[in-house]
Amino acid sequence: INYNLVKFTMSAGTAEQLPNNDRPEIAFVGRSNVGKSSLMNKLFGRKDLVKVSSKPGKTTTINFFAIGGMDFVDLPGYGYARVNATEKQRWDNLMDGYFEGERNIKLVVALVDIRHDASPLDAQMIGYLESLGHPYAIAFTKADKLSHSRGVAQARLLREQLCVDESVRSVLVSSLKGTGIDDLKKVIEERLNF
Ligand code: GDP
Repeated sequence: INYNLVKFTMSAGTAEQLPNNDRPEIAFVGRSNVGKSSLMNKLFGRKDLVKVSSKPGKTTTINFFAIGGMDFVDLPGYGYARVNATEKQRWDNLMDGYFEGERNIKLVVALVDIRHDASPLDAQMIGYLESLGHPYAIAFTKADKLSHSRGVAQARLLREQLCVDESVRSVLVSSLKGTGIDDLKKVIEERLNF
């Protein structure tokens, strides 16, 4: 995959605005502040193509980035404490519209912060992906915050807490240090049969 060729294509704020897409998609999802924008920018080799976390109250959108014949999809983060019920409902509809629509989702990269215990929201997201049968992998973010051995142990613990099946791939990544990025690329490319 030639990540240098990445181009922003569009944003969707409602399920109706989502493009019909039969191109292979790699989607990224996680709690707000988990490091999703940083990781996507790192993959793309760009500084700020993917905008850093939107502030509470700001409109959340699904953003599409094209590389050749495939799309990388930035899904809105979850778990902001101060989001009101209307905004929460809008998020739900948008996410359901995406995951339950007719698409060619090759892989969902679920981001989980390596430093914390699994949150109920992370568990819910993983359960949701499993229930819909979407193939997913886990990227444990901010791995630079722990020593290598503590990171590996914590990743194992988080996989248990999230009841992740053995067949699911996971990688430890640090956008700050650049570690694990090649491993993640490998996981993505294997799914796309590169
Ligand atoms: P998003 O809300 O998931 O898009 O998260 P961002 O990419 O905006 O990152 C949220 C915060 O975490 C920012 O302050 C980043 O600087 C920080 N961050 C992101 N990735 C890393 C990382 O790999 N290591 C460390 N130490 N901090 C990170």
